[in-house]
Amino acid sequence: MPEKYFEDGLWTKQVGSGDDPEPHKKYGWMRTISNHIHFRNEEEKFIYDTNAFLSFSLSRSIALSFIGGTKNRPFDASVRESADAFLFTFNFEDSDLQEIGDGVYTFEYTCNYGRGSTDPDFYSFIGSFCRCNICENFPGYRHKLLLIDAEEFLSGVQDDFPEEHLKAYWDKEWLLLPADPMMDPSGIGFQSKIAIADFWAIEFFKYTG
Ligand SMILES: [Zn+2]
Repeated sequence: MPEKYFEDGLWTKQVGSGDDPEPHKKYGWMRTISNHIHFRNEEEKFIYDTNAFLSFSLSRSIALSFIGGTKNRPFDASVRESADAFLFTFNFEDSDLQEIGDGVYTFEYTCNYGRGSTDPDFYSFIGSFCRCNICENFPGYRHKLLLIDAEEFLSGVQDDFPEEHLKAYWDKEWLLLPADPMMDPSGIGFQSKIAIADFWAIEFFKYTG
């Protein structure tokens, strides 16, 4: 539910999916990543629909084309109150990323659940009562994201994943995987959200046709 971003950040589709909380262990990294970029059948679509990756593009024009969708619907920038679609933008320096493998990086950030008090895009009455479920118990905690440059990640195996590699190349696609631990001791895997923080923002759009 992206329209709830101001309450507790950006949630992935894994929430409530009913599938394994650690799809990368059940299916393997290569399969979860390649199926997230491209799926050909119901089984692959299920993995796409239930994993914890969020897709982003390095290209603003490509990201905007997804708002128009396959029917290329016309749209304009709008105010928050009348928005039909959201564009989430991320902003960090290369030096903020730590490379841990080919095309795979980690990024640490500090959350900001008080953002609604200074940024109208994040203000809401309900949101003003929301707190970070980690930092409330562990002040100063640094949140973690795994980032994958999909084209670079697949470049070494492009003979096995030619369509996926080409699609990642065309879309300039990056995958983001929230990598914060569960707070419930019985929880498995990672929390499925990117916390409210200063490194990401939102823009609003309305369809005009
Ligand atoms: Zn936090």
